[in-house]
Amino acid sequence: MTLTTRAQDFHFDEMTYQKEATTFKLFAPADAKAVKVRIYKQGLGGKAVKTVKMTYADGLWTCSVAGDLMGMFYTFDMGRGETPGVFAKAVGVNGQRGAIIDMASTNPREWTMDRRPVTKSPVDLVVYEMHHRDFSIARSDARYPGKFLALTEPWAIGHLQQLGVNAIHILPSYDYGSVDETRLDKPQYNWGYDPVNYNVPEGGYSTDPYRPEVRIREFKEMVQALHRAGIRVILDVVYNHTYDIDHSNFQRTYPDYYYRASPNPSEGGEKGSSAGKVYSNGSGCGNETASEQPMMRRFMMESVKYWIEEYHIDGLRFDLMGCHDIETMNKIRQMVDAIDPSVMIYGEGWSAGACALPESQLGMKANISKMPGIAAFSDEIRDALRGPFSDDTKAGWLGGAPNCEESIKYGIVGGIRHPQVNMAQVNYAKTPWATEPTQMMAYVSCHDDMCLVDRLKASIPSLKSLNAQSVNEELIRLDLLAQTAVFTSQGVPFMLSGEELLRTKLGVHNSYESPDSINHLDWSNKQTYPQVFDYYSKLIALRKHHPAFRLGDAGLVRKHLEFLKASPVPSEGGENVPTSPDLSKGGVVAFRLKNYAGRDDWRNIIVVLNASRQAQQVTIPAGHYTVVCRDGVINESGLGTVSGSQVTVGRQSALILHD
Ligand code: CA
Repeated sequence: MTLTTRAQDFHFDEMTYQKEATTFKLFAPADAKAVKVRIYKQGLGGKAVKTVKMTYADGLWTCSVAGDLMGMFYTFDMGRGETPGVFAKAVGVNGQRGAIIDMASTNPREWTMDRRPVTKSPVDLVVYEMHHRDFSIARSDARYPGKFLALTEPWAIGHLQQLGVNAIHILPSYDYGSVDETRLDKPQYNWGYDPVNYNVPEGGYSTDPYRPEVRIREFKEMVQALHRAGIRVILDVVYNHTYDIDHSNFQRTYPDYYYRASPNPSEGGEKGSSAGKVYSNGSGCGNETASEQPMMRRFMMESVKYWIEEYHIDGLRFDLMGCHDIETMNKIRQMVDAIDPSVMIYGEGWSAGACALPESQLGMKANISKMPGIAAFSDEIRDALRGPFSDDTKAGWLGGAPNCEESIKYGIVGGIRHPQVNMAQVNYAKTPWATEPTQMMAYVSCHDDMCLVDRLKASIPSLKSLNAQSVNEELIRLDLLAQTAVFTSQGVPFMLSGEELLRTKLGVHNSYESPDSINHLDWSNKQTYPQVFDYYSKLIALRKHHPAFRLGDAGLVRKHLEFLKASPVPSEGGENVPTSPDLSKGGVVAFRLKNYAGRDDWRNIIVVLNASRQAQQVTIPAGHYTVVCRDGVINESGLGTVSGSQVTVGRQSALILHD
């Protein structure tokens, strides 16, 4: 496709308000027929009060509409269905029409004083992934359950601060289509991976989706409140696909430009309205966008920039980053660096199907070394801990599966090359894909899968008899052990909201449209299982207080992190549980952070993770140590001391010592 000079200056659709007249611009094909702007009094329904033809010149369609249009709504129409364009900044209910508002009026008080909390390195972040509705809908004291504003409330801020997380990653919060904003009196639920307007907050999370300025102001109030509490806000961005092609704002303004065609039509995704065209389906949702196209690349860059500058967003999580080309991701990183290098970028380093570009050009995990400053999720540590994504009933290391230790070690070092990690024994990656530990997200669960409790119950025979709501000591032990591996990893730690409350989704794996009864957090668990919240918060505090756990540099990790010989001898005592031969051989990962790593106050820190159902003895460098974590209890000022070169770690638990 040849773009004219002016389009290559990257204008999308624009609406420029002036009291006397408002001008509109649209990036649409030169041969489009009868491109019009329609002006409405409402965001939905009613007839257009004005329809004005646009004229084409120099790569753009433009027109000027006389009169004071403040408070009015508009659409572009080129015969494919009305659309607010691809870059509307304010919209009416359900995002069908653009809105003409005064953006300055959407700023909360003191918005210009808002500053992002200081972060030196991504590994200093503790990322908490949450859905607005999950988090607050069942909270009896919430004033704004299920809304952006819930995150301004003292109970919410208090919980996050008490837990110690310093970055929340909010599931799609741009305007998506699957919740009907005209029916918010009825419970509706969706994760929101069906973008409509990429550059406007979702109306369903606002207190009034009909008034365009409300969702914008409330989103900003949320960011401001979190920033004041020292918490960063990371946005989940889904540029890789749209719900469908024919109804998308992309297709309605520039048909076929923004999507990749299938190189192999018999295996392609949906068929669009263009005759004979079959689209590629790397997203698994029927289509995939074409980030390598100059205007799609520019769209992503401008959108990211807009969220950072207008909404003060502190980080971005790219859905199916493996659908985007490497060059685009690097250009986004460079652009963001020019604004603020501390804005974090990470993504899913995979796609959900074959893309129309070769994998060598895509933002895959295996290509992270070509994307400096961008991180990807480690499915190595996730699946080694809890079992494979493909089969919920299969256990990982936590359930006694053999040969998981090397993959956990790979996750502990932050996905980098390390002389003591044998990549031949790692579950997925056969070469270390991260250049720096800041490029690896360490996690055991996230939204699009079973939560940890459910997965443990589904995969571990001794827990299968528990019903969905019940909990036993073994379940708690394994839950705490799993997160200890995550939070002592040199990568960037990431947790799913509610794990600190032993969240259950009643065994539902893909709960994207499940009701609140499946997805909501059960806040009563904070009182029912206080030891769980206590452990999580103290584990996070331990990481934050001790730079040895977050060295942030591959050379320092290789220098200071040393795995201890994992040849544990079953100790006397423990439970009278018959031990399988596999368990007595494996199940332990032990490492030392030595010689004041990261200028830590502690000289040496030893971490022993034991998934086996028996206590184990581990040989450590001889010394006199203070115990700070043992048998599911953490106390940084000490739980006692041990001397010598042999320590015992309790069954299914972590032991952390220092000297
Ligand atoms: Ca919406």
